[in-house]
Amino acid sequence: VNEVARRHQSPALIVHGGAGERAARDERPGRRRGLLAAVAAGATLLRDGAHALDAVTAAVTTLENDPLFNAGYGSCLTSDGRVEMDAGIAVADFAAGMARSNCQFRTGGVVMISRTRNPILLARAVMERTPHLLMGGSGAELLARAVGLRLCERSALIAPRALARWRASRRESAEADHGTVGAVALDSAGNLAAGTSTGGLAGKMPGRIGDTALLGAGFYASGDGAASATGTGEAIVRAALCREGVVQLARWPAREAAERVIAQMNRRGGEAGIIIADARGTFGAAHNAAAMEIATFDPVRGLHHSLAPQISRSRRPE
Ligand code: ASP
Repeated sequence: VNEVARRHQSPALIVHGGAGERAARDERPGRRRGLLAAVAAGATLLRDGAHALDAVTAAVTTLENDPLFNAGYGSCLTSDGRVEMDAGIAVADFAAGMARSNCQFRTGGVVMISRTRNPILLARAVMERTPHLLMGGSGAELLARAVGLRLCERSALIAPRALARWRASRRESAEADHGTVGAVALDSAGNLAAGTSTGGLAGKMPGRIGDTALLGAGFYASGDGAASATGTGEAIVRAALCREGVVQLARWPAREAAERVIAQMNRRGGEAGIIIADARGTFGAAHNAAAMEIATFDPVRGLHHSLAPQISRSRRPE
């Protein structure tokens, strides 16, 4: 933990596209392309020596702009047919030679956003441009305007796909619509960042806020690592899932840390997925839903898309 942050760290980036039902067959190629485009956008920056925060922002905005994911344009709708999005971002910064335990920590989040296409950019503005860390309501809209984020009509964020799914869910029993997005990055200076963005749970009550904008629940970063979560927000908040995952890095490699916190979710009850990167750029990902897609970048393997390991709900943690 007291290891000194090194310059010239190999950068790394991992993104997820939400835990939930396996994507419909005809949407799988598009989702795969979307995740690879997101990780490529962040990887290009990291290769040029950019900050982990810029890589996370680039990856998450790419997915927010893709209607196949439940974030930004394409977000699922509330029970009364509206878009209400949450997003959060966190960074652990290191000055060269600084002990990992002394990193500088920054965070920002936004809730119930309905007129900004990229809530992750607004979460970042809360972090960088205000003394606060969580904002919503008309004040968040004023901030968006002040930092030059375009406000759109509420209806402009409703994608045809999201509207069709909302209509179908009113006829049939609602299927849990996942597709939240998140990214975790380590840059070549050793800085760590995590960000998560979501339209929330399909058919949620207007006004409901989940885990995504809550530090420690939907996202987290510290000197040891960073994480982003997806799944049933209420269960994720109760478990403080991302903080719990990063805390596990003191004892376990990233992969085991991810698997252990999802095994804990199995005991507590609740569908969830998590991605974690540690301070060396090792990744972990796990979920207990039907599926969770991830894409990764590291200088050795390049860009890679896969399904994250599933921790079946019947399996007991050792
Ligand atoms: N965690 C999100 C929420 O509860 C939803 C998701 O990840 O699918 O708002």
